[in-house]
Order: sequence, then C-alpha cells, then structure tokens
Amino acid sequence: MECRAYEYRIYPTSQQIEQFNKTLGLCRLYWNIILSEKQNNHSMLIEGYKPTFTKFKPEALNWIKEIDSDCLGQMWSDVRAAFNAFFNSCNKTRKGKFVKPPKFKSKKNPKDGFRYAVTKPKFSNKGIFLTRKLGWLKGSFHCRFAEGKIKQTTIKRTATGNWFVKITVEKKKNLKKCTNMKIIGIDWNIHNDEFCVLSNGTKIKSPMYLRRTEKHLGRHQKKMSKLYKIGKEEQSQNYLKEKQRVAIIHEKVTNKRKDFLHKLSRDLANKFQFVAVENINLQTMAQMHHGKAVGDQGFGMLRNFLAYKTNLIKVPAAYTSQTCHKCGIRNSKLTLEDREWTCPNCGSHHDRDINAAINIKMSAISRLGTYRNQNACGEPSSSTKQENLKPFVQNKKSSIKGRIFTA
Ligand SMILES: [Zn+2]
Repeated sequence: MECRAYEYRIYPTSQQIEQFNKTLGLCRLYWNIILSEKQNNHSMLIEGYKPTFTKFKPEALNWIKEIDSDCLGQMWSDVRAAFNAFFNSCNKTRKGKFVKPPKFKSKKNPKDGFRYAVTKPKFSNKGIFLTRKLGWLKGSFHCRFAEGKIKQTTIKRTATGNWFVKITVEKKKNLKKCTNMKIIGIDWNIHNDEFCVLSNGTKIKSPMYLRRTEKHLGRHQKKMSKLYKIGKEEQSQNYLKEKQRVAIIHEKVTNKRKDFLHKLSRDLANKFQFVAVENINLQTMAQMHHGKAVGDQGFGMLRNFLAYKTNLIKVPAAYTSQTCHKCGIRNSKLTLEDREWTCPNCGSHHDRDINAAINIKMSAISRLGTYRNQNACGEPSSSTKQENLKPFVQNKKSSIKGRIFTA
C-alpha cells in the first residue's frame, strides 16, 4: 500500500474564509498552550483540547461550537508526534538525526493549515463538499482524483493567501509493467548549468528560475525592508503590500520549478523503467556550500518525483567521477577543474560527467544482477540481461520496501 496526495486549488467565499481563520486560530491557540505548559513541565501529559481549554482558556470552549472540532483532535496527535520525535532524537542510545523541538505558531505567518480525519469529500458541479458547517467549496478540480481509501483531508493557506485542499488516499501500489527494461544513470552536477547529465550523453540544463528573478526580487525585498518599522506591533499597509509582492514572486518561482521538474521526471519515467542516481545527502550539501544553487536546481525534488513515477535506484556516490568506466581504474589525480580527462591505463578519453553517469548506471545494473561488461551508452539489448532482470522484478514486492532502492 502507498499513500498519494491530490491537491486542488479552492476559491472559498468570505464566510468560508472566516470559518477557516477561526479554525486556524483555535488550532494555533491549543498548540501554543501545550507548548508553553510543556516548557515549564517536561513530564506533563498532553491532554485533548477540551481538558486543556477548561484548565487554561475556558472561554475557548464556546468558540469550539462554531468550528469542526475534528481539526483540534488532529492537532492533538500532531503536537504529540512532534514532542515524541524530539524526545526520541534526544535519547543518546538511539541513532539518527536530531529533531528540533516544536516551535510556537505565529498569527503573522501566512503559511498555515489544518486537517480533518473523518470527512469523506464529495465532488459535484458545485465543487467539493467537506463538512456541513463549510458547505460546498468552489475550486478547480482535475479529473486525476483516483479511487482509494481516504485517510485525511487538509486545508492549507500559502504565503500569498491562496487556499488549497489536499486529499490523502491510501491505495494499492501499481508496479509499472515491464515493457522495455531500459535503465539510465543520472549524474548530478552543481558547478555547471547542466545540472543533470545522463549516461546516454544528454546534458539537461537547469532553468535556475530563482537566479533569473534575483534582481526583481531584490528590488522588492529592499523596498519591504525600508518600510518595516522596528518595534511596532502592526506594520503599515504599504509594508504588507510589498510583503505580498515578495511572496508572489517566490511562489511563482516555486511553481515554475515544480512544473519543469514534473515534465522532466515524466519524460524520464516514460522512456526508462529504472533510473539510477547518486545517494547524496542534499541537505548537508546545501548547508556546506552552494545552498542557493542546490535549492534552485531542485535535484532532490526530481528524485522524489522519480521515486513514485518510476523505479529509482540509489547507488553510492564515492569515486563515480574518478573511475574509468571502460577499464575500472581509479584516477585519483583528477581535480574538480578537469572537465575532460584521458585514462592513463586504457587511453580512452572521457567527459567527466558522462563518465560518472555511466558509472552510476553500471553500479545500478550490478545491483540488479546483470552483467557489467556491456555498452553502457546504448540501451541494454542482449537477451541475457533481460533474463537476469526478470526475476528481480518479480521478487520486488517481497524483497524490497517501497520503490526506492538504497545501496
Ligand atoms: Zn580506462
């Protein structure tokens, strides 16, 4: 079973927006009360919304009647999960990443959301129906909503103030049928504009949308910071207008990038059944250097899209650039400046990135149980390779969790 989320833009009326804001306000109040109490007393039990409000904010009990209290129940599980993750990561005997403690929610933060657990959304010409208190919500609904067990429904507000509804469903995993058995390796490159180099020699340029809008964005950010008045609780209307403009620019950049990566990943998924990538931690890369470029290229997002559109294989990244794909000799003298090099052993001339992509593909093929000595630039064509791949695909359900294969 796998979870899929379907997101639709909605256009709520002013009354519905008021209802949303009331729900968001109460959820935020409940979250902040729990956080402030938990800071004083770590061993405090996290109670549900009713006992918490009775203890600390009795007037909030009257406000609950106006909203769907199901959302507050969901908030209770969220706050418990956040604290559990934090306390578990503090435990030194456990291995894994450190999780930051939950933060207070601010009214000024435009990005927010809440979710329903029990609703079963209905679609019709009028829009989407979630609860009786909300009524029908207008929106643009594409026909991609598939069958499956509905797990939860989320309402979210973006930084620009647009509303979205996200429906999460659980359904059976549809494994892609084995039609062509083609495999490709992708080498990720941060130093060039060509961020993806495929093992068949194709170099894909990143549009770098953020870099393109930097001048325009900078102008508005400068204006915004000049209008900000330090120490004032409420800022001027002009400041808020400028803030909205900056948010719109950021959202446009994000949408453009997402669109480009969706198209690219769909194209790759249609052509190849297996896609091999390096197993790099992009978050650490971004923290160390070139943080802006890593985010702007969106290679991590591309990997995520590929993971559900096709079969993604992650292979170790070590020495993929330095190893000659023809003879397997490692050239440790190779520096970052060398974009092309000649192998000292077999004398073959390599493009640095294409060689790395071929090595990634080779590594993935060896993991899939196929022969190494084949022409990696072309598609695998010999019948032996296909025979070797078949048993793996058949056993995939039982042997490997999910569709991401880590080395
Ligand atoms: Zn060589």
